[in-house]
Amino acid sequence: MIAAFTRKYKVEYLGEVEPIYRVARLLKDYEAKESIPAFTVKGTDTRSVGNLVSTRERLLEAIGAESEEEAYKRLLEAMENPGKLTWVGDPGDYRVAGKGLKSLPFAKFYEGDGGLYLTAAFIVACWKGVCNASIHRMMLLDEKRAAVRIVPRHLYKLYNDALKEKGRLPVTVVLGVHPAVLLAVSTSPGFGRFELEVASKLMGGLEVFPSPIHGNPVPVGAGAVVEGYLTGERVEEGPFADILLLYDRVRREPVLRAEKVLVSDNDTHVILSGGREHIHLMGFPREAQIWASVSKVVPRVYKVRLTPGGGGWLHAIISIEKNHDGDGKNAILAAFAGHPSLKHVVVVDGDIDPDDPVMVEWAIATRFQADRDLVIIKNARGSTLDPSGGDGFTSKMGLDATVPRKGDPHFERAKLPG
Ligand code: MN
Repeated sequence: MIAAFTRKYKVEYLGEVEPIYRVARLLKDYEAKESIPAFTVKGTDTRSVGNLVSTRERLLEAIGAESEEEAYKRLLEAMENPGKLTWVGDPGDYRVAGKGLKSLPFAKFYEGDGGLYLTAAFIVACWKGVCNASIHRMMLLDEKRAAVRIVPRHLYKLYNDALKEKGRLPVTVVLGVHPAVLLAVSTSPGFGRFELEVASKLMGGLEVFPSPIHGNPVPVGAGAVVEGYLTGERVEEGPFADILLLYDRVRREPVLRAEKVLVSDNDTHVILSGGREHIHLMGFPREAQIWASVSKVVPRVYKVRLTPGGGGWLHAIISIEKNHDGDGKNAILAAFAGHPSLKHVVVVDGDIDPDDPVMVEWAIATRFQADRDLVIIKNARGSTLDPSGGDGFTSKMGLDATVPRKGDPHFERAKLPG
């Protein structure tokens, strides 16, 4: 499954790697390299890969898009009109892992992390006709148990409903899939829309087999599959350095009880928390939503960037074509509507590259006036990841750094001839 993607690249096998800090260091060192690192986390039963989509080029390649605009459109279309799953009977060659959950590539990434974590696994759950797939970090407790961070979203709702009725939710944990599947399970279509069906639309079809106990759909060729339950037991989970590279606090989170841990010869996957791959998987679907939202209020959106400095989550730079003066401010408002966790946004003209922080600063220096071009919205709902806000409340700020008088030549940047 992963191989369908990695075979297009040079994969460098680095042998056994210690789970504590060494895996994280390796992934960081290979983040911008051409080759994809493969390794065996010491003591585990599978080979792992990482940094599959740590570059934007590989992210576009994963979904076969020629441009970002095409990628945004296809992702939005897949979320809006998901496809169908193709069920196959034969799951392929899986074997029961000798050490249960300890056979999987759990790793400790940062010094303050509370334990060893699985970062690239997603949970498939179906309850009363509603199926959901979403990525959750899992902290290893023992061979049969892991603590799962479940933010109050779709899986949380299924879990609570099932808990009231049956005391537990049947779940299937899947690890090691094509990055297009991971991107799809990182999106947030409405409750009731199944992310694997989003993946199917995005990929032009997705083959799945029924998981051995619950019959949940699992993409064919997945590296590892865990059948289990999210139980009523809660334990302390965390701290864990998340996408903003801040330690998320300790919470009492549900325990996953594994009934069966299956591995195959296919690769599993480790995502470096706070790394480029993490930022791309979480941020790209939000960029798509910002792109769609801003596209409704201005003639053209050239580029949307959730910047690395903003953790790929809190800061956006957007380059646009204006029709009228004032379009820049409408673009700011549309950006906040497209990505509710967005905190600061800078809107620039098409001659400024959002990927070039110096040019963005130059646009702010020469085209922006604070009393005229600054938008501040107080006490809006923001990201709970941002410790400077109060309990999910935040102030949002937008800078309209577009040329204030459209077509005024005084704002043109001089170019060296030749
Ligand atoms: Mn969902």
